[in-house]
Amino acid sequence: MTKPLLRSLTIVLLAVTFVFSPSLSAEEQVPTRRALLIGIDGLRADALKAAKTPHIDALIEKGAFTENTQILGERYQDNDTISGPGWSSFLTGVWADKHGVNDNSFTGKNYTEYPHFFHYVKAQFPQAQTYSFVDWTPIDEHIVSDADVHKVYPAHGHEEYTKQDREVTRDTVTTLREADCHVVMAYLGAVDETGHRYGFHPSVSAYITAIERVDAQVGQMIRAVRSRPDFDAENWLIVISTDHGGQGLGHGGGHSIDEIRTTFLVVSGSSSQPGEIEEQTYLVDVPVTVLTHLGVEIDPDWKLDGQPRGLKE
Ligand SMILES: [Zn+2]
Repeated sequence: MTKPLLRSLTIVLLAVTFVFSPSLSAEEQVPTRRALLIGIDGLRADALKAAKTPHIDALIEKGAFTENTQILGERYQDNDTISGPGWSSFLTGVWADKHGVNDNSFTGKNYTEYPHFFHYVKAQFPQAQTYSFVDWTPIDEHIVSDADVHKVYPAHGHEEYTKQDREVTRDTVTTLREADCHVVMAYLGAVDETGHRYGFHPSVSAYITAIERVDAQVGQMIRAVRSRPDFDAENWLIVISTDHGGQGLGHGGGHSIDEIRTTFLVVSGSSSQPGEIEEQTYLVDVPVTVLTHLGVEIDPDWKLDGQPRGLKE
């Protein structure tokens, strides 16, 4: 063998080793299951019930559901009941004493030690394709990591959020229709902003209208998932929850207010256990449920606080 040929062969071999880690076959580089996670900011559980939401209802009908999900843990409750700590717990699977985010300043954030759950997906399945579409900028700026595609749609006030939720939906739908995506996170902010403007309550028509609009967007996403050529083989799980409820025009300091701290969780797909989830559920269960569905083995060293919920044994 000539030296230049040997050198080019070595380079090819190194490249192959780099792309496909030697311990994993090509099939083992990606999960055999898929997940869509939808976060709807500031959606009160009783308002979800009051609104006409046929698409979310259909997911609940076929899947696992609870209206008793706690946004605060038992061990630690010193963080505020607002989006910074809420989405941090929702996306990392640990409470605020670990991820370090107690308010919307993100001071003390420790996502190096407690990363976004995409990190664990990638650790086990290096070729898994992860997508994040959000219109609350801090999620993209601070929390998201290990995303193959992440987009942010900045907004201020309920009108801009309503417009940007449509953009989030459009890109999520395109991804779900066309991409070889394994886990997709879509965050929609208009319901919360509408609550802050008009009131968080089932009797507030603007709030209910915002929820019904989001339900139509969820419907578009579900149709996109079902339209996938390999939908039957891909075993999609759809998980929907929120970071907190609300009362009056806000939700801060809601530690003892049920309408703020107790919320809902939908876990739906052919792997979900239909019916009411009997165990106590928490916000930190969300990513652990998604990871478990995808076949990621939870390592105790990650010190996750959540449990998988709503899945078949
Ligand atoms: Zn809010």
